[in-house]
Amino acid sequence: MKSYRAIALKLPELDCGVERLMALANLAHRGYRVEPPDLPKTVSIMLYRRRHELAFGTEPKRWLARTWFPLTTLRIGNGQKIGDGGAPVVLDFDRGVVKLRFICHAEVPMPKWAYDRVSEGGDVKFALLGLKRGKPHLALVAEREVELIQTNSVLVVDVNSWRHGVVWALIRDGKTTKWARVRPDLGYIERLYSEVVRLEHKYGKLERLGLHEGRDSKKLWRQIKQKRRRLYAYLRDFAQKAAHRLALKAVKRRAEVWIDDMLEESRRELIEEKLPSDLVKLYMLYLRRFINLLTNQLAWYGIPYRFKRLPSTVCPVCGSELTQLPDRTMVCQCGFREKRDLVPIRWALKYTSPP
Ligand SMILES: [Zn+2]
Repeated sequence: MKSYRAIALKLPELDCGVERLMALANLAHRGYRVEPPDLPKTVSIMLYRRRHELAFGTEPKRWLARTWFPLTTLRIGNGQKIGDGGAPVVLDFDRGVVKLRFICHAEVPMPKWAYDRVSEGGDVKFALLGLKRGKPHLALVAEREVELIQTNSVLVVDVNSWRHGVVWALIRDGKTTKWARVRPDLGYIERLYSEVVRLEHKYGKLERLGLHEGRDSKKLWRQIKQKRRRLYAYLRDFAQKAAHRLALKAVKRRAEVWIDDMLEESRRELIEEKLPSDLVKLYMLYLRRFINLLTNQLAWYGIPYRFKRLPSTVCPVCGSELTQLPDRTMVCQCGFREKRDLVPIRWALKYTSPP
């Protein structure tokens, strides 16, 4: 079984018209062969000969969707060369640089990510060139042949929402041996968010007065953008780190992973808590991202995983509907009592124990 991981590296401004290359890649995927005479020969080799070796879903999803341009790579490590001698991307692990040639010309430092993937038995056979937020990027794609590992325990990951955190528990021999909650700094997020809202409000007022072209409002606009970026960066970073830590935990404990991702339920819960809808969207966006990152990394390391519904409002003892107390404790008429976020773990215990 093959698994893939990718990283996007920011490139300096390029001389090769990335937008045009993306358009050509788009046409190539649709079966049109377009070869403007001024394009380097390597462009048509990539598009019409080598593109088909890319097997990880680079097909554009929509008509006129932006399509990243496929590139082969040549890898240099310990003085040895592997891969396509005529590749437009050279990964020189010895010198620690990624070099673009033939189509575009640039050199960027090799990311630690690439060394890590190679040390795990992966190989960066392909790359993609494209625009991300309007800037040229090179996506490196690592490929690895994996076999699922033998597991002896279960890591339950209950994805609530960033607000209530992700609760994980390790179950072994019918017992919970460890559990914890992973949660971002909500105070920080909500402070930044309300700051953004306040500034946007102020900007909106200036706009209504027709003053949004002034120097002050331009400054204001920059501040808004900067704060938004900081907020996204924080959530992205948090999702990445949390997913990575959990994946490594599963590897270390040889645990199969059960993911309960009741995203719809989480979304409703956030709305019931009267959170602004923008913030709910943001929390949900990064929660989805967290799940994608997690499953991607589990696949990479050969950890079996599955999505499993673990209810938080149904009693794991008698099956009755639970009642929620104001402090998020769930109680049942049969005497069962547990914190809401731990009810799914009790269900997982029930599923893993022999009857
Ligand atoms: Zn009960």
